[in-house]
Amino acid sequence: MSKPVDRLWLSENTPEAIRRALSQMKPLGAYDHLAAAAKARAEADWLVGLNATRAFSLRHGRPGSPLSVGRVQTPTLRLIADRDREIIAFTPVPYWQVAVTFQATQGAYVGLWQGSAKEHPDRIMSLNEAQAILAPLTPGTRGQILSLETKRVTLKPPLLYSLNDLQKDANRRLGMTAQQTLDAAQRLYDQHLVTYPRTDSRYLTGDVAATVTQRLRGVGQWPAYQDLVEGVPRPLRTRRLVNEADVNRAGHHAIIPTGSGSIGSLAGRDAALFDLIARRFLAALYPAGLDDRTTLITEAASHRFKTTGVAVVEAGWRGVLKPAPASDSDADEAEGAAIPPGLVEGQAVNVDHAEIRARETKAPPRLSDASLLALMEKHGLGTPATRARILELLLARDYVMREKKTLQSTEKGRQLLEVLPETIQSPELTGRWERSLEGVAEGQEDPDHFLHQIRSYTKELVETARTQQGARVAEEDLGACPVCQIGRVVGNAKGWGCSRWREGCSFMIWRTVAGKKLTPAQVKTLMAGKTTATLKGFKSKSGKSFQARLKYSQESGRIEFVFQEKSPAKRRRGKTQAAMGAKSGT
Ligand SMILES: [Zn+2]
Repeated sequence: MSKPVDRLWLSENTPEAIRRALSQMKPLGAYDHLAAAAKARAEADWLVGLNATRAFSLRHGRPGSPLSVGRVQTPTLRLIADRDREIIAFTPVPYWQVAVTFQATQGAYVGLWQGSAKEHPDRIMSLNEAQAILAPLTPGTRGQILSLETKRVTLKPPLLYSLNDLQKDANRRLGMTAQQTLDAAQRLYDQHLVTYPRTDSRYLTGDVAATVTQRLRGVGQWPAYQDLVEGVPRPLRTRRLVNEADVNRAGHHAIIPTGSGSIGSLAGRDAALFDLIARRFLAALYPAGLDDRTTLITEAASHRFKTTGVAVVEAGWRGVLKPAPASDSDADEAEGAAIPPGLVEGQAVNVDHAEIRARETKAPPRLSDASLLALMEKHGLGTPATRARILELLLARDYVMREKKTLQSTEKGRQLLEVLPETIQSPELTGRWERSLEGVAEGQEDPDHFLHQIRSYTKELVETARTQQGARVAEEDLGACPVCQIGRVVGNAKGWGCSRWREGCSFMIWRTVAGKKLTPAQVKTLMAGKTTATLKGFKSKSGKSFQARLKYSQESGRIEFVFQEKSPAKRRRGKTQAAMGAKSGT
């Protein structure tokens, strides 16, 4: 005997939303594909993670510190390490710009010299050439505006927040990590202030869009949002926020305020994140912004100079939520400069002054939570609900470290990648599997076929681990380098050295000093500039045992012995023996 079973599907947990969901329940069977995809994903993660972690730990790990390998975490580590490699391999190239301040009757503006190069036409690759361009541009030189073009640009309001977008934005604007954002969003959800946060849809269903008016009324009751809510144009423009298919694919709609609950007691990150979600919700309902972007070409001394300027015509939604600063690209410096109003084509101007600016090309920036999440999303790594956890896992395992807002791989993480086969590091393969899982969720792909592929791949991995050669992955990362303050002190076969040795940092403490092995704890003491406790078991060149305390000298870059203060003569001799450790360590 079987009774019909319906599933209750909730995206928020206010009484009203639950009542609404109860009236719209679908038969359980409607969720079969989604459930099959979730099960296949969990099984695949388990199979690959468990087997690869065990196989590679046995082959390359050290006793007591297994390696951690996973279908999503390893390609994510690879993305971070790849960026680090790009930065290390990067050599800055110097270039010069010639910047001229022109004086027109309407005001002054700055133009940058333009060459004929397709890319970066403002860059002059030699100082001599820059000086030759500069020479005739003396104050008072006549110039003329060759062209003046103004384009009106429409900046559409943003869509609503998916979890990934919320995490990226909270990282850029508030400096919150992906995990902190997920945690805060979960608390806001538990307090019935926002809808379900683990979603990768930026859209609403038609049914939910119909509740926007009511939510606005709720948000407008809080003084902080009263004026902003009154500024929302009526009738509401919710049509662009509705996409049924996308919400169905994701399982939940975008994150929006419920419009009920109490925000009075919110503080810290929770308050800041709620504000971000509320403003994004309002901004999505505001009109587009309008900008005038002007490009001005001025000619003087047979050279051309370009000036670009932006004037805000209508702030639109930007009055509610300022666009987040672009984190990854360094802005073009002439961009957004002020252009005096009223300039016309053909107008005569004068050179006020001209200068050469020395510049150099910049390495790509380190990844941040925001840019890593964007990369993971692009490669189809993980789901919105799991990305923050993957990153925290890499941090906890010491494969990745966080410094302020940036992420970088550790020596240990890079060594792990060195011993793992390319297929498990490659974001392409995992991304392809994620697309298969989406196919399963949509009922277009067979979950058994997917798992069959995963099983044979896992077998291959284990076989690789069994047969391949390779060193064991070192464990120690003892902290920031005491000499350069930037690198990390990491263990290798010979000792503990600065990870920035390629950049010329010479900090190094050998594993063995005068025949005695140092422990990581002792090395940490030395790195902190402290003197160790008295250690026994050193051997002098003549084979005599002795005991001493150790200290690292910044001046000599070597370990020095500190002897008991019996006689000053002995102490001096101790210092002259300082270099012993370095010789006996190899
Ligand atoms: Zn260093």
